Amino acid sequence: MTRTVRVGSLTIGGNSPVSVQTMYDIPLSKLEPQFESRMAVLKAMGCDIIRFSYPDIREHDALCNVVRLCPMPVVADIHFDWRNAMDAMDCNVAKIRINPGNIGERWKTEEIVRKALDKGVAIRIGLNSGSLPRNDGGKSMVDLMVDTALEYISWFENLGFYDTVVSLKASDSALSYEAAREFSKRCDYPMHLGVTEAGGVVSSCVKSTWTLGRLLEQGIGGTIRYSITGSIEDEVQAGVELLRTLGMRKGGMKIVSCPMCGRCSFNSQGFLKEVEHELLATGKDICVAIMGCQVNGPGEAKGADLAVTGIGNKIYLYKKGEIYKQIDSADAGAELLKAVSEYEI
Ligand code: SF4
Repeated sequence: MTRTVRVGSLTIGGNSPVSVQTMYDIPLSKLEPQFESRMAVLKAMGCDIIRFSYPDIREHDALCNVVRLCPMPVVADIHFDWRNAMDAMDCNVAKIRINPGNIGERWKTEEIVRKALDKGVAIRIGLNSGSLPRNDGGKSMVDLMVDTALEYISWFENLGFYDTVVSLKASDSALSYEAAREFSKRCDYPMHLGVTEAGGVVSSCVKSTWTLGRLLEQGIGGTIRYSITGSIEDEVQAGVELLRTLGMRKGGMKIVSCPMCGRCSFNSQGFLKEVEHELLATGKDICVAIMGCQVNGPGEAKGADLAVTGIGNKIYLYKKGEIYKQIDSADAGAELLKAVSEYEI
């Protein structure tokens, strides 16, 4: 079992549940007006930790504001300038992510570690295969990644700092997998798992699920991030779905939906896209079916708590397996969300 690392209100490693995280997709200088409600939706969808890029201390006030508004622990992502890490800790972030290899001289990293120790801030050593020290000894990439992480950990431990999480990511799934496995054989710090720059929704979900799923089944990984060239809501949904599939997270909404075909009388694809995040954000522990026609619609509706299905040229809302009412396609989203919010388990 790994050590336990406190990150704000939650812990990573040991017996703690595996947490899901994402990284905000807009610069701090351009926070969207609906920021607070978006964070609330992410939290309700199952996001446990959120990271923000912090490249410029002129965004100090924005970062402090974000820490205040976010309902989950905030991580500051730091590259190159050690002073950004020092400043981020004054905003009370729960964790910082650094790669000591791009911070410069060792004393700069040590200053960060001293301050983190003083303020009770966790640190992720985040190494990517593309930003490692020179490989003078002809080591394998896996060994170079693991040895580099272990060296940085020794710097931290020399200062009495142990609240460290480690990630060894590559865009190559097999390398990410082998590096995490090797690290966890040689060290008991918890790992943040991910496949970096993994592509769009389909590519990332395939690569990340294959890599992270196998590691988690072996007990490796305290926190996960799907890196998707897409929405951060998709990243959270993918992470939560993986944990639920592995039996590592219970509860939450189960959505059954048909892929849609030429028989459909209800556009299940477009409808799901429209309401999926809102449905998941309700956090209701129920099953909702969204079906295109009578071939499988009534059957799935019978097994679901709520369902919307096309039958002939009409659309029906089902409750507890029975037709509840006929609805118009324009109102289907609002009708279903209302039924979900009123549903008593
Ligand atoms: S439920 Fe109907 S529309 Fe959906 S995939 Fe099956 S046959 Fe096609």
